[in-house]
Amino acid sequence: MERFRWQQAEGRRHAYNAWKTATPHPGIAFEALCGAEVIPREHDFVELSGWWHDPTCWACDREWRVRAGFPAHDIPPLPENA
Ligand SMILES: [Zn+2]
Repeated sequence: MERFRWQQAEGRRHAYNAWKTATPHPGIAFEALCGAEVIPREHDFVELSGWWHDPTCWACDREWRVRAGFPAHDIPPLPENA
């Protein structure tokens, strides 16, 4: 099982730690890697093919890379206004 997973919620594609966070369900808040507590809705679970409608939360993307031990050149700085 992967340690980190993506879950769309509240208009962004956030990531969460699957070892610490229960599998997200509609209407139940979970803590994303970026520190936000977000509540996914039914429509956030329609995509099962790995494609999400909402834009990536770059703070989560960065946290994922840092925690997963990516080399520094694979950890881009956060975009402004992210
Ligand atoms: Zn996030």
